[in-house]
Amino acid sequence: MYDFMLTPEEQKVKKEARAFVREEISSDFLRKMDKNEITYPREFVEKLAERKLLGLRFPKEYGGRGMGWTAELAAIEEIGCLGIALGCAYSMPSIVGEAINMFGTQEQKEKYLKPYLEGKLVAAEALTEPRGGSDFFGAMTRADLKGDHFVLNGQKRFVVGAEGADFFLVYCRTNFEPDAHKYNRLSLLLVDRGPGVETEYLYGLMGCRGGGTGRLVFRDVKVPRENLVGELHGGALCFHQMMIPERMTSACGSLSMWAALDLAVRYSSRRRAFGKEIRKYQAVNFLVADSITRLDAARGLCYMAAKAIDNGYPNVRRLVSEAKRFATESAWEVVNNAMQIMGGIGYTEVYPIERALRDARLAMIWTGTNEIMNLLIQHEYYNEVLSPDYDKRLMENDATSPDDTERCFTDEDMMRIHEAGPENR
Ligand SMILES: Cc1cc2nc3c(=O)[nH]c(=O)nc-3n(C[C@H](O)[C@H](O)[C@H](O)COP(=O)(O)OP(=O)(O)OC[C@H]3O[C@@H](n4cnc5c(N)ncnc54)[C@H](O)[C@@H]3O)c2cc1C
Repeated sequence: MYDFMLTPEEQKVKKEARAFVREEISSDFLRKMDKNEITYPREFVEKLAERKLLGLRFPKEYGGRGMGWTAELAAIEEIGCLGIALGCAYSMPSIVGEAINMFGTQEQKEKYLKPYLEGKLVAAEALTEPRGGSDFFGAMTRADLKGDHFVLNGQKRFVVGAEGADFFLVYCRTNFEPDAHKYNRLSLLLVDRGPGVETEYLYGLMGCRGGGTGRLVFRDVKVPRENLVGELHGGALCFHQMMIPERMTSACGSLSMWAALDLAVRYSSRRRAFGKEIRKYQAVNFLVADSITRLDAARGLCYMAAKAIDNGYPNVRRLVSEAKRFATESAWEVVNNAMQIMGGIGYTEVYPIERALRDARLAMIWTGTNEIMNLLIQHEYYNEVLSPDYDKRLMENDATSPDDTERCFTDEDMMRIHEAGPENR
């Protein structure tokens, strides 16, 4: 429907992704993942690599296609219909690859990024700790620098691909100065699976099964100094950059809920009640109207964020956070509507709507909860409106009685406002 927004090359990628999900991944594979009979979908990643669909945004020399976010959006929207675990396995090279591509050395790109995009290695990202995920900068996993290597100790949890990955991108504390600023405490390390790295497939997840989510424990793991990504204590910079693909992939993946909606549309065209197809009832078809409108609005927001990143817009954090929050909430609403349209059968395993609903719930929690998205959105917007560069017409100047407007503030407030100067009002 919206292919006109994509270039011919991006349309081609979308078609390739659509063909991939139809031809390569069997329903049996998805069912086995949901039953935890598959614990990591390695062959899925290998098949994607064979078709050169991984890491579309990265340079061709490392196996990417040198494309932009709009291409990745188009591909994820197709691939995400396989469920959140496979959507995540598809997105992980984009997330881990971002850090290596932006901050890694030539050697790191050759050793880790290239084989990852070729399907020869698989990676996971380890940020969250048992003490909490939202307060990321409070991480307690530590790496002590001892000459030419670090000694890594600590624990991470909820790591997708803990089971299955060959290497891990791990944030850890390296600066132990008690008054170190939070942005100057952490470093980012590439850690190979090996001695001292313990993983455990865990949790009895509600959805997103089969993606290898588990716990990681590091006990005196020796990590060569050359595996440091970016600067020592410079993890914050990598984190902020990585949060773009982290949240964009969550947002764009949520658009895949078109699959659940389309199922409900087909079902409601066949199912009859009181002598006619249920789609003829406004209570049903308005749910369809609401759902597709929400999805299109989410798609528009994701596309705007994608364009902003591709065009080097300087501060994309608000748009990316809005896209993540709105698209994940929309997916949740859409899948609930789809279930409602299907009635009782939607609540059974007869149709995979219940699996889609379990998947959709996660998207509002991971990659930064939607409450954290709200924190970021309001922060960025206050900064924009109160910026000295704000050059729009000020609506308060059009008040009917400016004196009354002034009286909204105390004398003390007015003094403070005047002292701050005109640009800070
Ligand atoms: C299936 C699954 C897969 C995951 N995959 C990965 C992975 O691959 N790698 C990884 O590192 N992590 C992963 N995560 C972790 C995920 O990102 C975190 O669960 C998430 O960031 C929230 O952290 P938390 O669970 O510790 O909740 P907490 O941080 O304890 O938050 C609990 C509640 O408090 C709210 N809250 C916290 N602080 C604030 C605040 N300042 N203002 C308002 N509300 C606040 C939160 O919004 C939330 O509602 C995964 C999680 C799951 C469930």
